[in-house]
Amino acid sequence: MKLLKFGGTSLANAEKFLCVANIIEKNKNNEQVAIVLSAPAKITNYLVNIVEKNIKINEILDQIKFAENIFIKIIQTITKIQSCFLYEETKKIINIEFNKLKQIINDFISLKTYPENIQAIIMSRGEILSICIMKNILKSRNHKVTVINPIENIISTGSFLNSTVSINESKKRISQMTINSNNIILMPGFISGNKKGELVLLGRNGSDYSAAILACCLNAKLCEIWTDVDGVFTSDPNKISNTFLLKSISYEEAMELSYFGAKVLHPRTIKPLKKFNIPCVIKNTSNIEAKGTLICEKSNNKNILKGVTNIDDVVMFTIPGDLLKQKNHGIVHILNLLEKENINIILITQSSSKNNFSFCTLEKETQKILILLSKSFKIELKENFLNNINIIKNLSILSVIGFDISQKYDIASKIFSSLGKSKINILAIAQGSSKYSISLVIKKEKILTSMQIVHNALFHNQKTINVFLIGIGGVGKSLIKQILKQKNFLAKKNIEIKIRIIANSKKILFLDDSIDLKNWETAFKESKEKFNLEILNTVLKNNYFLNSVLIDCTSDEILSKQYVNFFSKGFHVITSSKKANTSSLKYYNEIKTTALKEDKKFLYETNVGAGLPVIQTLQNLFNTGDNLICFKGILSGSLSFIFGKLEENILLSDATKKAKDLGFTEPNPCDDLSGIDVARKLLILAREVGYEIELEDIKIEPILPEYFKQCKNTEEFLYKLKEMDIPFLERIKKARDLGKVLRFVGTIEKGGKCSVKIEEINSNNPLYKVKNGENALTFYTNYYQPIPLVLRGYGAGNNVTASGVFSDLLRIIL
Ligand code: ADP
Ligand code: ASP
Ligand code: MG
Repeated sequence: MKLLKFGGTSLANAEKFLCVANIIEKNKNNEQVAIVLSAPAKITNYLVNIVEKNIKINEILDQIKFAENIFIKIIQTITKIQSCFLYEETKKIINIEFNKLKQIINDFISLKTYPENIQAIIMSRGEILSICIMKNILKSRNHKVTVINPIENIISTGSFLNSTVSINESKKRISQMTINSNNIILMPGFISGNKKGELVLLGRNGSDYSAAILACCLNAKLCEIWTDVDGVFTSDPNKISNTFLLKSISYEEAMELSYFGAKVLHPRTIKPLKKFNIPCVIKNTSNIEAKGTLICEKSNNKNILKGVTNIDDVVMFTIPGDLLKQKNHGIVHILNLLEKENINIILITQSSSKNNFSFCTLEKETQKILILLSKSFKIELKENFLNNINIIKNLSILSVIGFDISQKYDIASKIFSSLGKSKINILAIAQGSSKYSISLVIKKEKILTSMQIVHNALFHNQKTINVFLIGIGGVGKSLIKQILKQKNFLAKKNIEIKIRIIANSKKILFLDDSIDLKNWETAFKESKEKFNLEILNTVLKNNYFLNSVLIDCTSDEILSKQYVNFFSKGFHVITSSKKANTSSLKYYNEIKTTALKEDKKFLYETNVGAGLPVIQTLQNLFNTGDNLICFKGILSGSLSFIFGKLEENILLSDATKKAKDLGFTEPNPCDDLSGIDVARKLLILAREVGYEIELEDIKIEPILPEYFKQCKNTEEFLYKLKEMDIPFLERIKKARDLGKVLRFVGTIEKGGKCSVKIEEINSNNPLYKVKNGENALTFYTNYYQPIPLVLRGYGAGNNVTASGVFSDLLRIIL
C-alpha cells in the first residue's frame, strides 16, 4: 500500500486534476493506493475570507459565487477532455454544497463572528469537492473507489480549527472498515472528526498531516506528498535564489524545517510517519520523473546544514522581571496560560540581569494573549500591567536548520556577521534548545533580504560584491565592459559582481534581474529616474546587501564630500577621482578615520599612476616598517609624452598639439602644462607616506610664464605657445650637451618638502628613458636604496584606469 497526497497546487485546474488521475492510475498498476486530496489552490483562502473578514452579505455571496465558478469551470473542462465524466451529477453536488454554504451563512450572518464549528464546516468544502471530482474522474476510467469519511474515521482532540489526531483511535476505526483490495482509496485532507462526531480541522496546510495519519492507519510502506516543487529545498525556491534541492533529510530535520516555516510540509506531518517508520517522499506533479526529497530515519546527506526558513507575522511580548516576580512561578504561569488556550509559542528568551522574559507567537494571537494576561495578573498589578509589557509587532523569525548545528562553531558566526555587515538588526536569538536549529527574530520588512543573505553565507562559497556606480564617462564605461568580460572567469573563483545602480549627474538606472547588464546602455537611455544626492542617499540607506561598494568615477567635488556619509551607511568607497584625497587635510583625515571606525574600505589606487600598483605598494612597504627617504617621479602621461618629443627635436608647440590630438591632454593643454595635476598626485603620495601637508605647500615651478594663464581659449594658448619653442630648444640643447634630458618631475624630500619642476636628468637616472606617455615612480626607502624601487608603465587611459578600479573592487573581498 502506498499513500499519495496531492496539494492544492496540484489541483489548480482541470488539466491538473487529470494529470493527478494519471499519476494515481500509474501507481495503482503496482500496488493498492490511498489518495488524500486538498482543496484546489486558493479555494481555502476564499473560504477563510468569508469566515474571518467582517464583510457585507453581498460581498460574501460574491466570494461564494466566485469559488463555485472555479469548480464549475474545472468540471466543464474535464468533461471536454475526459470521456464518460459524470458532469451533471458532479455539478449537482457542487451546487448542493454551495447552497448549503449560503444557507449556513444566512443563518449566522446576524452574529458578528461565526462559531468555530461553523467556520470549520465552511473552510472544509474545498476538500470535499476535490474528492467528489476525483472520484468521478476515476469512475469514468472504470476504477472502483472507496471514499473514507474522515469525520468518522480520523479522530482527533483539540479545537475545531486545529485539532491533533489520535492515531490509535483512528487506526482502530480504519481497520474496522472493509475495503476491497482492488479499490482506490480516497480521503479528503484537512478534515477530521471529534469524539462527538463533529467535523474539525487539522490547521491550515493540514492535508499533509491527514496523509501521514492515513499512511499510518493503512500501514502504507511509503507516503508521497505531491506538490509544485521538486522537493524540499535549502530555502523556499519561490522566494530565495540559488537554493539547492535536498535529496534526503532525516525525520528530525524535516520536522524542524516545517516547524520553522518550510511551507512545503505541515509541521505535524512527520511525527506519525517517524513513529511508524514510514518513509516520505516529496514530489513534483509538474515534473513526475524527478526523484524528489526522501525523508527517512537517517539521511545520507553529509552536509550539516539543511535549510533557512521563515515564519512571518510574528509578535514578541516582553514581560519585565519585576512584574514576573510578583507572581509565583511567573514564567511557568504564563506558559501554562498560553498552552491551555492552544497558543503556540514559537520562541522564548530570558535575560539574566533583569530577568525579563520574552516570547514570540503569531500576531493573530495578540488580542487573545493580552486578554489572558490582563485577566490573570489583575490582582497583582491592577491596571498597570498592560503598560508594562512591551509588544513588538510586524516581526519574522528566521531559522537555520541542520544536524547538530549548535556544535559547529562557525555557523552562528557566519549568520551574525553576514546580517551585521548588511545592517540588519537581530531582536532576539534562540540557540541550543534544539540541536537542529538557530532562530533569530527580525523585522518582517527585512526577512526576505535576511534569508537571502544568510542562505548565501551558509550555502554558497560565492562572494558577491554589490556595486553602486556613479559616473559613466570613459572610465565608468570601460569598468562595466571589463566586469562583463570577466564574469565567467570570476565565477570560477566563486566571485560575482552585481551592479545594482548606474548613475550619471542626471539619471539613475536600477538594475534588477530583469535587466541584462549587457544592455545597460539602452536601459539607461530609457530610464526616467532622476539622479541627485538626495535620491542616492535614500537608495543607499535602504540597501542591505553584503559587500556594497560605491564607486565614484566622476570628478564631482560635491560627491567626494559625501564619502564619510557613505561609510556610515555601510558602504565601501572606491574612487578614481582625486577630489577627496586632495581636499583639505581635515576632510582627508576625517575620511580615513571614518572608514576605519565603520570598518569600511576606502580605495583609490587609480589616483596616482592610473592602473599602476602605486598606493597598494606604498601601503605594503609602510605597513611592514619601511620608510621613505625620497621620491621622484614622472606623474603625468601628457607631460611624459611632450618632454619625450622635445628630445627628438620636435618643437614644444608641435609636441603639445600632437599630445592633444592623441587625446593625452586635458581639453585645454594649458592645464597639463600648469603642473597642478602633477602637484595633486604628489600631494596624495606625500599624505600616503604620512606627511600632513596641503596642496599649497607644494612648490610648483611653472613650465610656462604666468601670462599664459590669461589665454582665453585653447587655440590662443597653442598659438602663443610657439613663443616658447626657441627657449625650449635652447634648454634641451644645453641639457643634451651635458648628456642629459629634460623631465617634469615631482619630488618628495625627507621631512615632506614637495616640489614639481623641470629637471635635467642624466642617463643613470631611472627617469631618463621615461617618455611616450609612460609614468615612472622611484621610491628611495630604507629597504630600497641605493637602487630605488621603480614602478613604470602607462599612467593614463580609460582601460588602465578602469582596470585599477576593478582591482580595487576585488580587494573588497580578497
Ligand atoms: P501544496 O498546495 O502542494 O500543499 P504548498 O503551497 O502548501 O503546496 O507548499 C509548496 C510550497 O512550499 C512551494 O511552492 C514553496 O514555495 C514553499 N516552500 C517553502 N519552503 C520550502 C522549501 N524549503 N522547499 C520547498 N518548498 C518550500
Ligand atoms: N486546503 C487546506 C489549506 O489550504 C489544507 C491544505 O491545503 O493542506 O490550508
Ligand atoms: Mg501544503
